[in-house]
Amino acid sequence: MVYDALLPPLDWPEFEAGSVWLVGAGPGDPGLLSLLALHALRQADSIVHDALVDPRILRLARPDSVLEYAGKRGGKPSPRQPDISARLVQLARAGRRVLRLKGGDPFVFGRGAEEALALVAAGIAFRIVPGITAGIGGLTYAGIPTTHRETNAAVSFITGHNSDGVVPDGLDWGALAKGAPVLVIYMALKHLGAIAERLIAGGRNKDEPVAIVSKAATPDQRVLETTLGAAAADADAAAIEPPALVVVGEVVRLRAGLDWLGALAGRVLVADPLGGRRPAKAG
Ligand code: SAH
Repeated sequence: MVYDALLPPLDWPEFEAGSVWLVGAGPGDPGLLSLLALHALRQADSIVHDALVDPRILRLARPDSVLEYAGKRGGKPSPRQPDISARLVQLARAGRRVLRLKGGDPFVFGRGAEEALALVAAGIAFRIVPGITAGIGGLTYAGIPTTHRETNAAVSFITGHNSDGVVPDGLDWGALAKGAPVLVIYMALKHLGAIAERLIAGGRNKDEPVAIVSKAATPDQRVLETTLGAAAADADAAAIEPPALVVVGEVVRLRAGLDWLGALAGRVLVADPLGGRRPAKAG
């Protein structure tokens, strides 16, 4: 196995008993795990994972490790955050090697910092392993670059709802609308209509291209291309399911040339996807 062949020359950090590793599992495809994440999966005694961790990844766990689900999914009952942190502390104090596995990157809209700070407060040793965040790697699986010289020199990552599940009105949507040519919105599906309205009110063009990327980097990946004005209705009509990312901006047009996954299934790509639509000046 390639993994075993890689092991000897690498200087693996010891997964100490009584410690917690807070690890990002990436958006889905197990091939996007880091070597450290794989190392942790092979060592951990207890794995506390959330709903976004792909089942194919959990199958890589050491066969006798104990899996615990501590998922958070919008709308469904889920363990409270303090309970999850307390559970991590409890398992570590019991002398276990605890892997806290989270979808994407633990520090991107993942409450990783809250959990890590709870470990600090409890005096538990920990390590953090970044993962590929859905808002970058998931877009790549949809054939959409996060940046492209001709379309955007900046990008904003935004959350579409706050911890109460409502549109975060604490955010200045008018400023966000003007802030970057490309907006990547996590957790946006539920309030897409309201979000699109706020962005249009803030000056974004209703005809601006939008992609909704559902279940990125999984076998059920779906990508819907639409416009800001039509996004909410189109997502409804197409019954797009979470988890999904919403990408707003000209960069979405690149997909006609860069949908590499589609091309593997026979889609014909175009070499000049921006064509005559090249923006005068990239913002
Ligand atoms: N820490 C995660 C984000 C957690 S917030 C990360 O770095 O990716 C949960 C949101 O992430 C979802 O509502 C969705 O917007 C996005 N997301 C996570 N995995 C996804 C996937 N495979 N496909 C599409 N969106 C995903």
